[in-house]
Amino acid sequence: MLSVNSIIEMVMNLNKTHLESQVPTLTPMMAQYLEIKSQNPGCLLFYRLGDFYELFFEDAIVASKALDITLTRRGKAGDGDEIPMCGVPFHASDNYLSRLIKQGFSVAVCEQAEDPKTRKNAKGPLARKVVRVVTPGTLTEENLLDSKFNNFLMALVPGTSGKEKGQVGVSVCDLSTGDFFIEQTDFGALGSLLSRLEPKEILLPDFLLEEPDLFETFQDWKKRLKPFPKSRFDAENGEKRLQEVFATKALDAFGFKSRLQMASAGAVLDYIYLTQKDALPRLNPPRTLSAENHLYMDGATRKNLELFYTLTGQRSGSLLDHLDHTLTSGGGRLLVHHLALPLLDVEVLEKRLSLVDFFFCNGKVLADIRTLLAPIPDLERCLSRLSLGRGGPRDLGAIKLTLHQISALKTYFKNLIQTPDVFQKLVHHLGHFEPLLEKFTRALSDHLPLLTRDGNFIREGFLEELDTFIQLRDQGRTHIQSLQEKYAGETDIGALKIKTNNVLGYHIEVGANHHKKLDDRFIHRQTTANTMRYSTVELSELEQKLMQAADQALALEMRLFENLRDDILKASDDLVRAAKALSALDVAQSHAHLASVENYTKPELEDSTILEIQGGRHPVVEVGLKSQNQDAFIPNDCVLDQSSPFWLLTGPNMAGKSTFLRQNALIVILAQMGSFVPATRARIGIVDRIFSRIGASDDLARGRSTFMVEMVETATILHQSTPKSFVILDEIGRGTSTYDGLSIAWSCVEYLCQKLKSRTLFATHYHELSELEGKLSELTCHTVKIKEWEGKVIFMHQVIPGKADQSYGIHVAELAGLPKSVITRATQILERLEKPKAAPVLPLFEFKEAEKPYISPLEDALKSINPDALSPRDALEELYRLKSMTA
Ligand code: ATP
Repeated sequence: MLSVNSIIEMVMNLNKTHLESQVPTLTPMMAQYLEIKSQNPGCLLFYRLGDFYELFFEDAIVASKALDITLTRRGKAGDGDEIPMCGVPFHASDNYLSRLIKQGFSVAVCEQAEDPKTRKNAKGPLARKVVRVVTPGTLTEENLLDSKFNNFLMALVPGTSGKEKGQVGVSVCDLSTGDFFIEQTDFGALGSLLSRLEPKEILLPDFLLEEPDLFETFQDWKKRLKPFPKSRFDAENGEKRLQEVFATKALDAFGFKSRLQMASAGAVLDYIYLTQKDALPRLNPPRTLSAENHLYMDGATRKNLELFYTLTGQRSGSLLDHLDHTLTSGGGRLLVHHLALPLLDVEVLEKRLSLVDFFFCNGKVLADIRTLLAPIPDLERCLSRLSLGRGGPRDLGAIKLTLHQISALKTYFKNLIQTPDVFQKLVHHLGHFEPLLEKFTRALSDHLPLLTRDGNFIREGFLEELDTFIQLRDQGRTHIQSLQEKYAGETDIGALKIKTNNVLGYHIEVGANHHKKLDDRFIHRQTTANTMRYSTVELSELEQKLMQAADQALALEMRLFENLRDDILKASDDLVRAAKALSALDVAQSHAHLASVENYTKPELEDSTILEIQGGRHPVVEVGLKSQNQDAFIPNDCVLDQSSPFWLLTGPNMAGKSTFLRQNALIVILAQMGSFVPATRARIGIVDRIFSRIGASDDLARGRSTFMVEMVETATILHQSTPKSFVILDEIGRGTSTYDGLSIAWSCVEYLCQKLKSRTLFATHYHELSELEGKLSELTCHTVKIKEWEGKVIFMHQVIPGKADQSYGIHVAELAGLPKSVITRATQILERLEKPKAAPVLPLFEFKEAEKPYISPLEDALKSINPDALSPRDALEELYRLKSMTA
């Protein structure tokens, strides 16, 4: 007996003629399916059958589960078992594709490759071929992509000997925008690169999976790794591919530094050819990402600082979410790029900041440019689809709209005076597309269909020839209407209708009881349950004329589409330059908008080791407090310089230490990405690396305890930090015994002060460390102010010079609702521990009275509400009151 699996295996080894003789029960269509399937290993095969994409065998079982659709059966396989099958409608396939891609599947889309009407050999199934392999890293469709994030495909090629050992050549390409970057890094920094770019698919030689130094790095990316044999990553092939694609022999100009980079770029291009079935989208020439020009942050730091996601993995609440006031998709992606790669070059940053400042100081211009940018569609992604032959009339329409807005922006900018140089340069990059815009305005209708083959997207009057065909087609329809009226009159059948369908084409339909009224002119074609269908010579002739005109109109429209598409592709370099300029304007206006709404200031950047922030705030916590109607955020200063680069911060729990640490790191990042900052003044000596060690969490997936995670992160900092770096350390040594923890924290402080001399904020509950003030000249002590009032502690959230003498942990525990008796007992124990010699040994505590279950103030308030006694207005007020009680 042959199982379904063994059939697939056979297909991989046999040619088709053998297959049918080996598996006699296999229909020719199934044999074709299996042959195509065997040519596309690792993919689900979407096999086009009429209006559906069907999946068979294992694919059907997997896809029906992944998509939650019904699994049915069809025919029999070799072992006599029915073949599992499921299908998705062609018209809704994008939705299903998107769900499969999100789950990490790749899908080979197989279409009919011949027209049933024109095929010569009427036997056997229609020829079919895979037109595209859809994979997570090669998407181009708007609805499959996140508009404000790049969708990167990455290839890694490691060096295996000599100087290249331990190095990796990296290439990343976003097919949907044409962005293409190259980089070379070492194994140690690969994790940071991955977290910076978040590639959706990572191509790599299979032996790299065995590299022990990368086990750790690949842990978070396992599902996205695509191993291939080593031979697919060949530098010579890469060089040839690059020369062919970018039509130049001089690859040095792109910044290629090594054979590893060429091999990885070649692997990316090969994979694009493979998945796009030899169609290559328009790609920008590769650019280097060069880590040495960017502020370095490792994966843990990016995560801890919640740059793109919160610690719980949400976008909402992250720094990006707060920052993003861009209005275009391209602007959104550029903002992500800037946040992922803050700069070190003061001159470049000054240029970015001058543009933000210009919009910030000109409120009216800012409002106007926001209105003009808002309708602009995703130009880069439209271009990419059109270059792949995948675009439709709406992509042309989107480009027309973009050109229109560019023209409006340029007209508006003409009247502006005293604009910064960088602004002039961007306006220049907006280009001159007036003739193209004029042509597109004349050519395109106001209402555009999704698909070219739906026709009717060319405006009347654009081409006389087309208008004539359309007139004929439409007249033909009117003639058919007249013919229907004529036949109804002549036969005296009021309900006689002329209808059309795919099988009969145009035909006459009458009720079954009327057929006797029809004369010889009416040729019987079909009988249905209640009706009879006929044709006439007159109708057939009319139909032919009409079809001819419709076909000719459509063929001409298709040609015009190609012509307009070519116009765009010819202008694509200028269009990409304009798209990049629009994105830069959008990012600058986004920063200016945020700065004016949230009252940010322009940072002062210099090449020194100063960090002087006055009135600094945490950008996200500040708005969080505001939205919850809580007390205003308390601004704080932070001054670190060469003589005093280290602040030891002690203070009660909940006082705001972690917030203070993070806000200063975020202010540095914001400044070095070219944004204004939440402070009254910020003087920032360019920071080369930021390290953070904040919060504690187990990493059970990697078999690491809280303490181990903490120590690994601390080790990274102590190995990599420099005098130009900025380090924030929160609660080092907390996950172990007090003495072990204190000792580790103590020696880390000494090492950071004496050896590394990095600017450092170090928060701790080990008050003993304050003793180091005076001993280490680099270190000064700071604390967060509190007030004690009527036995309660009030957090002032104000950072001041000094030391804390207690942590008020028990007070915070009480606020959190620990049972009263546990609090009483903890207070007794604390007193005893603080005076170990004077206090007697404590007898065991008796928790006698039954503890009342803890009821939170919110629950309490809810219980006291009687909904029946509330007016709608009172109910609303109650709701606001309850909401204000939530933390
Ligand atoms: P722990 O030592 O327990 O970790 P912490 O001192 O690090 O506490 P944070 O977590 O930074 O304290 O802050 C506690 C809460 O105080 C924050 O959630 C925030 O709501 C509030 N807070 C922090 N800083 C400020 C500030 N400057 N102004 C107003 N509220 C603040």
